[in-house]
Amino acid sequence: MNQPLAAEEAALFSVLLEAAADAIIVIDEVGTVRQANSACARVFGYELPEILGRNIKMLMPENYRREHDGYLRRYRETGESKIIGVGRQVEGRRSDGVVFPMDLSVGEGSFSGERLYVGIVRDLTERHALLQTLQEQEAELRQMMDSAVVPTGLVDGKGRLLVANEALNSFLACDGSADVELGSYLSADTQVQSLGAALDEAAKAPTVCVLALLAFEVDGHRKSGDLYLASFPRHAHNDDHGIVVQLVDRTAQLEAEKEAREIREELAHYQRISALTAMTAGIAHEVNQPMGAIANYAEAGQILVRKDQVPAEELERIFKQIGQQADRAADVIRRLRSLAGGQSPAREALSASEIVNDTLHLYRSQLELLVVRVEKEYEAELPLVFVDRVQIQQVLLNLLQNAVDSMTQHPEAAIRVSARSAEAGLVIAVEDRGTGISASIAERLTDPFFTSKTDGMGIGLAVCRTIVEKHGGRLWFENNAGGRGATFSFLLPGAEGGTDG
Ligand code: ADP
Repeated sequence: MNQPLAAEEAALFSVLLEAAADAIIVIDEVGTVRQANSACARVFGYELPEILGRNIKMLMPENYRREHDGYLRRYRETGESKIIGVGRQVEGRRSDGVVFPMDLSVGEGSFSGERLYVGIVRDLTERHALLQTLQEQEAELRQMMDSAVVPTGLVDGKGRLLVANEALNSFLACDGSADVELGSYLSADTQVQSLGAALDEAAKAPTVCVLALLAFEVDGHRKSGDLYLASFPRHAHNDDHGIVVQLVDRTAQLEAEKEAREIREELAHYQRISALTAMTAGIAHEVNQPMGAIANYAEAGQILVRKDQVPAEELERIFKQIGQQADRAADVIRRLRSLAGGQSPAREALSASEIVNDTLHLYRSQLELLVVRVEKEYEAELPLVFVDRVQIQQVLLNLLQNAVDSMTQHPEAAIRVSARSAEAGLVIAVEDRGTGISASIAERLTDPFFTSKTDGMGIGLAVCRTIVEKHGGRLWFENNAGGRGATFSFLLPGAEGGTDG
C-alpha cells in the first residue's frame, strides 16, 4: 500500500515543481543539486540533466562561487545563516556567462535523515530593466522640469511643496529639501486665504485656476507672480490630489514698469519746470515790450521839453502813447494773473481788421522808428474769430517784430499783412522781405529759447504757437519764392468753432 502512495506523492510533488512559475532548486549539505524544476533550467539557460547532480556553484558568478562552500560549512558547524528563512537579492549566472539579478529565498528541510536546502529563485532581470526605464524616465522628466524657465512644482492640498523645479527653488530661494509651504512665502499684504481657497477648490475638482498676482517675500525681497494651479489625482487607491503650481514670475516686469513710471514722473516734473521757465520768460518778454516803448516815449518827451518851443500836441501824443503802453502792460499782467488763477481768458468776437489795426496802432511808433512800411490786404467777407484780444495782438506783434528784425538789410521794403478766409476760419499772414529761414534754423524755430539774435530771448514764437494752439488754431511758416523773405501765418477757427478753453 505504501509504495503506490509514495509514487503518487512523488508524482504530485513533481506536478507541483513543474507548475511553479519560479525556479525551485534543492541542494544537499555540500551544495550538490538534488532536484530542480524546468523553470530553474529555463532561468539559468540549461537542460535539466545538465544541472542535476552538479554543484550549485555552477549557477553563480565568480564572487559568490568562491564564498559558497564556506557558507555551507559555517552553517553546518554553527547554525549561523545569512539567508535561510530571510530571502535576499543576489546574482545568478546563466549558461552563456551572463550575470543577472535574482531574488533568492532559501528554506531548510530534511529527507531520510539528510539535511537539504530548498531555494526559490525569481529572475529580476525584467523588473530591473523596468525599474531602470522608470528611473531614466524620471530623470528625463526631472531634467525637463529643471530646464523649464517657469517656476513649477507639485504641492499637496495644504500647499506643502512635494516637488519643485530649479526655477521654483530659485524663486523661493530654497534648495527643495526643506519642508516648504508655499503660503509661508506670501508677503504680509497678500491674501493667504485666497491661496488656501484656491488650493481647496483645485483639490476638490481637477481644474485649472489662476491666482492673479501674488506677492512673495523671499529673503527680504519682494517678488511677484501669477499663480496657476492644476490638480490631478495622485493615487488610484485614494482621492489624494497633487496640485501642479506654475508661477509666471512678474518681478522683473513689475520692477521695469515701476522704473518706467518713475522716469515718466521725473520727466513730467522736468516738463513742469521747463514750462514754468518758459512762462516766466514769456512774462518777461510780453511786459518788456510796452516797458521798452514807455522808456522810448519818455526819452522822446525829455528831448522835447529841453527845446525852447514845446509843441503841446506832440507832448500830448507822447503822453497818450505812454498811457496806452502802460495800460497794455497792465493788461498783459492782468491776463497772466487770470491765467495763473486758472480763469479762462476773456474772449470776444473780433474781425481781422480789428486785430490787425489795433496791433499796428499800438505798435506803430516802434515800427515807424525803423521806417518799415506795412501794407495791408484783406479779403472781403472774412469770418469773425472768438479770441482773447491781447493774446492775439501779442502773436501778431511778435510776428511783426520778427519781420522787422529780419529786414535790417532792406528797410525800404514793406511788410505785407494779409487776412484771408480758410475753410476752418481766418488766416492772418505776415510776409517780410528779410533773410528768410535757413533749413537749420527752421528745425528749431519754435523751440523755446532758440534765437539767432544777440539780444533775442527765443521765446516769441514758442509763446505765439502756444497762444494760437490754445485758440484751437495753428501757426506755420514758409520761405517766399525767389529767396524773398519768409511768411508766418496763423489760422484761427471761425467764431462758431472757437472754444472758450
Ligand atoms: P527771438 O525773436 O527772441 O529770437 P523768436 O522765437 O521770436 O525769438 O524767434 C526765434 C528765431 O526764429 C529768431 O531768432 C530767428 O532766427 C528766427 N525767425 C523768426 N522770425 C523770422 C523771420 N520772419 N525771418 C527770419 N528768421 C526768423
